[in-house]
Amino acid sequence: MSRVEILRLGHRPQRDKRVTTHVCLVARAFGADEVIISTRDENIEKTVNDITSRFGGSFSVKSGVNWKKYIESFNGVKVHLTMYGIPIQDIINEIPRDRDMLVIVGSEKVPGEVYRMVDFNVAITNQPHSEVAALAIFLDRYFGGEELKRKFRGIMRVVPSRDGKNVKVFTREECLNLMRSLGAEDKLINHSTAVADFALKIGRMCNADLPLLECGAILHDIGRIRDNSVSHGITGATILRSMGYPEDLVNIVKRHVGGGIDQEEAQRLGLPETDLMPETIEEKIVCQADNLISGTRKIKLEDILDYYRKKGLNKSVERIRYLHRYLSDLIGMDLDEL
Ligand code: SAM
Repeated sequence: MSRVEILRLGHRPQRDKRVTTHVCLVARAFGADEVIISTRDENIEKTVNDITSRFGGSFSVKSGVNWKKYIESFNGVKVHLTMYGIPIQDIINEIPRDRDMLVIVGSEKVPGEVYRMVDFNVAITNQPHSEVAALAIFLDRYFGGEELKRKFRGIMRVVPSRDGKNVKVFTREECLNLMRSLGAEDKLINHSTAVADFALKIGRMCNADLPLLECGAILHDIGRIRDNSVSHGITGATILRSMGYPEDLVNIVKRHVGGGIDQEEAQRLGLPETDLMPETIEEKIVCQADNLISGTRKIKLEDILDYYRKKGLNKSVERIRYLHRYLSDLIGMDLDEL
């Protein structure tokens, strides 16, 4: 994957702190990997790194960098955003997408040599406006709108809402507090914690969304606080949905039972929902981690298969075997050995 870096020229710590912070936040939100600030400014580094550590992504900020040397030694496409350049709509298709890119934005007057050091001088209209707006539009055109769909995997998750603010904190502590507040007993808490530990071991080896995985694993049995039957996944999902949790988390809880339950079985069992097969990587991991943790103890695939065989649930046996093979192949190691 090619990288996108932004070089912020002429930053004056007192005067530009707000605009430069916004350059960084726009860069992060619209798909860039790093901002380089020519003047040293630890406050901006701290502010932006703090946001990244909470809201996610692998974005970074570096300040106090010699801009001339940086531009000269940058190995990739160099773009300068300026009102005097060629309108973006006339030039965007000439900018290669398969190479790293450095996008330069100014604050006060940009030195004339910058115009000659770059491959493209690009204007977002030939009217004077703002580096923040110019950068947002440039990145959006460059990524063709795909950056809007990016997932950041942070611990702070905004759940889109038509009528207010809904933010969930995806940490183990927050989820355990929720379980306890609903009356979960220690036995359930300990099982959930053991499932989360094992799920994270798998998730770290296959690029899963770790905060989502950890919370899904801690909350997978939240429904059991009220319903100890085969419908506890649906009960848990209903509880979480009513509290405004997002569907990617709700579905982990809903689809973790029995290695998944197919439509025909769901109908036969009289369950109110039929969409109960784990689909995403996080759903599959929690499902199988739960199968391989009995209480707080790690068991082998054959142990759980025996349990389902004795109950005559042959479809579950096949599904659990499949999940085990699927995840073992994905991480390059048998889950029994993990
Ligand atoms: N007067 C300054 C100059 O001569 O370079 C520009 C000041 S402007 C407030 C700060 C930055 O916003 C510019 O360096 C440029 O990166 C960006 N900018 C402003 N208007 C732009 C436009 N129409 N197209 C592209 N970038 C623009």
